[in-house]
Amino acid sequence: MEAYLKCDLCHGEYDSREQLTVCPRCGGLLETHYNWKQWNRQTIGRGFQNSIWKYRGFFPEIRDENIVTLGEGTTPLVKSVHLASKLGLEELYYKNDTMMPTGSFKDRGFSLAVSYAKEIGVKRGLTYSSGNAGASFAAYSSRGKLASVILVEYIANPVKMAAIGLYGGNTAILHYDNFHQIEQMLSDASRDLGVYQFVNFINPIRHEAMKTYAYEIYEDLGRVPDTMFHPVGTGGGLWGALKGYRELAALGMTDRVPRMYCVQPDATAHFREAVKKKQEIAGAYGDCRDTIAQSIASDSPLQGGRRVLSAVYETQGDALGVTDEEILDAMKELARDGVGAEPSSAAAVAGLIRAVKEGKVKSYETAVCVITGSVLKQPGILEQAVGAPALEVDADVESVRKLLEKLSL
Ligand SMILES: *Cc1c(COP(=O)(O)O)cnc(C)c1O
Ligand SMILES: [Zn+2]
Repeated sequence: MEAYLKCDLCHGEYDSREQLTVCPRCGGLLETHYNWKQWNRQTIGRGFQNSIWKYRGFFPEIRDENIVTLGEGTTPLVKSVHLASKLGLEELYYKNDTMMPTGSFKDRGFSLAVSYAKEIGVKRGLTYSSGNAGASFAAYSSRGKLASVILVEYIANPVKMAAIGLYGGNTAILHYDNFHQIEQMLSDASRDLGVYQFVNFINPIRHEAMKTYAYEIYEDLGRVPDTMFHPVGTGGGLWGALKGYRELAALGMTDRVPRMYCVQPDATAHFREAVKKKQEIAGAYGDCRDTIAQSIASDSPLQGGRRVLSAVYETQGDALGVTDEEILDAMKELARDGVGAEPSSAAAVAGLIRAVKEGKVKSYETAVCVITGSVLKQPGILEQAVGAPALEVDADVESVRKLLEKLSL
């Protein structure tokens, strides 16, 4: 659809076909806006049915030849049996984005962002990553023949680093003292090197693809849920989903949006700290090395985290910090429902458990946890938390009979 970019801060408007990242006037974040008068119900389905491109009528115009897709999106909304009954919830769902081409929900964003970059003539792109974004960017940029440079955080696990190499990106290990330093480096790189960036929010289009969660959940449930629990790093997922719900509301398809819950590791819960003090801007807090939730560890939010905080306040949600212990427990509860998640994703479930215990979620409400990354992304934690089976058996029927006896089966 016809689109333009508008700055969050100075409200300057720009052509969406310019190769812009942040606002050239004031450095504020850019958001995509549309001429919704052109929209009609036929807009859904005018694309590739089994991917986010089913909703391409809700994206800026991109020609067929520039679309880079691996069938990302249209993931299952899994109804909880085990945890829902344990918590006394009538309806709890997991949006299972572990079933994505590269194993994390980043694929929604990179499919759209790489396609859009090709459409506007970008030749080379840069991102930094704790691992999942790097693998996704590597896969989509390789396939789309866009030169990519991926700076992977030195604390990333070796499996994630190797996956980036497998998909074929140019990778360098990024050393830094804190996230503020990274933000400064990125803004200098834009200005001095003119390199197009794929970092969430600095890239104005990546989070746009996260709207597709909202559309998919709406289509599966036939309505909007009461609450959404997101594991938050930058907040691109949470913000994008809320944008999707707001669009559905603006188009008259629903009259409300869910309460948005932002879940972070306790060790780096800068949004929780800001919400406690009712601040509109969050500051630095904690150390990324102090949690197993690698994909959502961030010691300070990009540009003060205004978008995430406004989403929490405007929807009467909350920002929660969960401990590594709560995350590991949640990982096991989630697995009893059949979904294997990396710790950062299980954090969303840990947040839900906490919110239910604190009375923030009622039993009759419909809750959705976004499960963002596969358990196989962090095999080291899996080994540590669960390990090898405790029982052993020899390959003869007598031994198996004893095993069954031992298990009282
Ligand atoms: C990137 C990532 C997140 C956080 O997403 P944001 O959009 O940065 O908030 C959560 N979980 C996983 C598995 C991720 O890879
Ligand atoms: Zn501006």
